[in-house]
Amino acid sequence: MSKSLQAIRGMNDILPEQTPLWRYFESTVARLLDNYGYKQIRMPIVEFTELFKRSIGEVTDIVEKEMYTFEDRNGDSLTLRPEGTAACVRAVLEHGITGGGQTQKLWYIGPMFRHERPQKGRYRQFHQIGCEVFNLDGPDIDAELIVLTWRLWGQLSIRDAVKLELNSLGTSESRGRYREALVEYLSAHLDKLDEDSQRRLKTNPLRVLDTKNADTQAVLVDAPKMADYLDDESRTHFEGLKARLDAAGIPYVINPKLVRGLDYYSKTVFEWVTDKLGAQGTVCAGGRYDGLVEQMGGKPTTGVGFAMGIERLILLLETLEQIPEEISRQVDVYLCAFGEAAELAGLALSEQLRDQLPSLRLQVNAGAGSFKSQFKKADKSGALYALILGDDELAQQVVSVKPLRGQGEQQSIAFDALAAHLATCIVQG
Ligand code: ATP
Ligand code: MG
Repeated sequence: MSKSLQAIRGMNDILPEQTPLWRYFESTVARLLDNYGYKQIRMPIVEFTELFKRSIGEVTDIVEKEMYTFEDRNGDSLTLRPEGTAACVRAVLEHGITGGGQTQKLWYIGPMFRHERPQKGRYRQFHQIGCEVFNLDGPDIDAELIVLTWRLWGQLSIRDAVKLELNSLGTSESRGRYREALVEYLSAHLDKLDEDSQRRLKTNPLRVLDTKNADTQAVLVDAPKMADYLDDESRTHFEGLKARLDAAGIPYVINPKLVRGLDYYSKTVFEWVTDKLGAQGTVCAGGRYDGLVEQMGGKPTTGVGFAMGIERLILLLETLEQIPEEISRQVDVYLCAFGEAAELAGLALSEQLRDQLPSLRLQVNAGAGSFKSQFKKADKSGALYALILGDDELAQQVVSVKPLRGQGEQQSIAFDALAAHLATCIVQG
């Protein structure tokens, strides 16, 4: 017998009982972004490997060890996208839609791929919703991105469970000066650093700041502080952002060790973190990347954005039991018909109901069956009412409307009065 086939480790099916929560989440975010004036963009899932190497940076975790890279039949090196920003920048450059300083406020949604160790909240195929804004360089737009995520947490009723961490990485010049000072300090304490940090000191020294190693953390206590190296421009920008968050009443903490995993950030970086999901606590992360577009061959174009991890936010909704009741019921009425004549009349009647009540969620019994079995299916569907159509009903041109969730008595309703009747009782639900 052949070995049974399985999905790839870390790549999950989202099963029918889970999709209502996903759709609720996705539609809530989509509506919010529409309302703030963001436009959706859809990019391919596969890009040239070079794109990610050039944008994310050669010495980042993603490019060094997490990418799904393969040769296609032409011998081109392609990669399943590990994140959305690189492809979004590629797309706006390719189509010239940020040319001449045009503002773009974009969002995307879709699967991302990283070869990481699968665990709760960390998968190899996972999903992000992200925003990218081009050609706006002030702190007002950084603030808007944070304000709209704050509103989203409110709509999802998870505000109490998330905390905003904020930092400024400065311009590339000020960051360069800080990097030098940090390298000098850390080099003098080389023997006390863990192996990973020793390596990073040479390749990507700022990443040493977010080490989990206790000995290295101890060394960092007296290390030079990024805030002391910010130039005036970065400092003013950061103050402007904080003033706006204060004005909007959004609490935050400054985390001087927040550096983010990707190379391309400058000035603002932020993360929304929760302590409800164990180690995988960052649910949304972003920042400003003013140099990225130019680095990728475009004209100087500022950018700022974020991406949220959908799986982690779904886990958070489940953990906090913030799943709206109405999404678990997907059927309003279930039609049971007994005998061929009733089935035919039932089909005609249900199509007429769908014309009259376009948003009615009507499930028609398929596969015939006894009274008992159809009834069981009606109940299991979660419907509020069963519509019963047998020989007696047919003779009188009525339907028996039976409440399934204890809301009153069964009633006989004439065919031509059914839509109006259902409209009142489903709304009153
Ligand atoms: P982490 O530090 O958790 O690895 P990251 O800094 O690599 O996160 P980003 O590249 O900033 O993450 O991606 C934005 C968001 O996407 C993260 O905050 C997280 O919510 C989600 N995310 C990232 N990697 C994964 C993954 N492997 N599985 C599930 N969600 C993920
Ligand atoms: Mg990561």
